[in-house]
Amino acid sequence: MAKIINVIKGTKDILPQDIDDWHRLEETALRVFSGYGYREIRTPIFEATELFARGVGDTTDIVNKEMYTFEKNERSLTLRPENTAGVVRSFIENGMSRLSAPVKLWYKGPMFRYERPQAGRQRQFHQVGVEMFGISQPTADAEVILLAIDYLKALGLNDLEVELNSLGCPKCREAYKTKIKEVLKPYLNDLCEDCKTRYEKNPLRLLDCKVESCQEIFNRPDVREVIFSDYLCEECAEHYSVLKSLLNEMDVKYSENKLLVRGLDYYNRTVFEIKSNNLGSQNAVCGGGRYDSLVRNLGGDDIPAIGWAMGMERLLALLPKSEPQKLDGYVISDSPVEALKLSEELRNSGKFVEFDLACKKFTKQLEKASKLAKYALILGEDEISSNSVSVKNLETSEQVTVKRDEVLSVI
Ligand code: ATP
Ligand code: MG
Repeated sequence: MAKIINVIKGTKDILPQDIDDWHRLEETALRVFSGYGYREIRTPIFEATELFARGVGDTTDIVNKEMYTFEKNERSLTLRPENTAGVVRSFIENGMSRLSAPVKLWYKGPMFRYERPQAGRQRQFHQVGVEMFGISQPTADAEVILLAIDYLKALGLNDLEVELNSLGCPKCREAYKTKIKEVLKPYLNDLCEDCKTRYEKNPLRLLDCKVESCQEIFNRPDVREVIFSDYLCEECAEHYSVLKSLLNEMDVKYSENKLLVRGLDYYNRTVFEIKSNNLGSQNAVCGGGRYDSLVRNLGGDDIPAIGWAMGMERLLALLPKSEPQKLDGYVISDSPVEALKLSEELRNSGKFVEFDLACKKFTKQLEKASKLAKYALILGEDEISSNSVSVKNLETSEQVTVKRDEVLSVI
């Protein structure tokens, strides 16, 4: 026998027995997001590597370690590790900044990151996400967070925790970065290798480090004092405070987390995550925030933007599994022609119907019907000669015989 070829580590098939749950995520997204005025956008799975280097940031783990990059015809291409950069590229390229603000876009699809596969972490995984362009006011931040919560609620997920922070703007953040560097200087040698690089390139991202020895340093009183100091300028503080009061008005429960800086370089002001206690250590289902300079950084106009992305595999892990759908009817007959005809008639009326293509015995057909369908539609000799069908409810075993054109009224 020929050698079997297996699926690649960190990737998974989505099998037919699980597809109903995926459809539910996607259909709910379409319904809920449409209600907020979002339109779906589908961008290519691969883009120029430079888009992510500039758009995600070349000091992030994603760009430094996790990208699937390949060359074709001397061009460096990369499988998208996330979709914001692609959506922003498309927004600019298609002149969407000329549309009246806000422009609201959503997406779903596979993303690719070369990470260590584990529960809740794959190398090909799926995200559903939204991006809103053109509004700098905190009303946009509030609406985007409410949308995330509404989507989760529509899926039946109510008890998730929202964490919130403001990173300020490049102006006020600069002084904060300098202070963080100062206070961490004596501990520089004890930081992990990644943090040593972050210290030079993007000190704010130190706070994101999950390594315990680094966390211990951040918890030292002298360091904590700097990390937890207020550094927002007046405008940023006002933005943050209006956002919080809007969320309070809307009864959104959130906690503020000063250590929440998010992995990506392009965030400013609002950042948030939504977490679940039922996911183990990969507990974030949603990450998002405001990225007012991204459109400009990628060559577009000065247009503010905000968005979030959710990991679909992590959402699915939280949802109860749905029951497999049963067929409406299973036609049972010794005459394949009659079975085929009745099946077609009912399918044309929108019913889910099958019959035994293998033409087995009547009893075998009945067994199969009880497994697969809600109703057995029996076409024996009598029924065929009298142009009728015996319809058996496979749950209650009740049976009625009706004229062929009346089947639809009983199933
Ligand atoms: P994490 O801290 O879990 O690595 P992240 O900050 O890298 O998350 P984002 O880039 O903000 O995540 O992506 C948004 C969401 O996508 C995450 O909250 C998570 O639900 C999901 N996600 C990210 N990476 C993966 C992955 N490798 N496998 C499965 N889901 C993922
Ligand atoms: Mg990550």
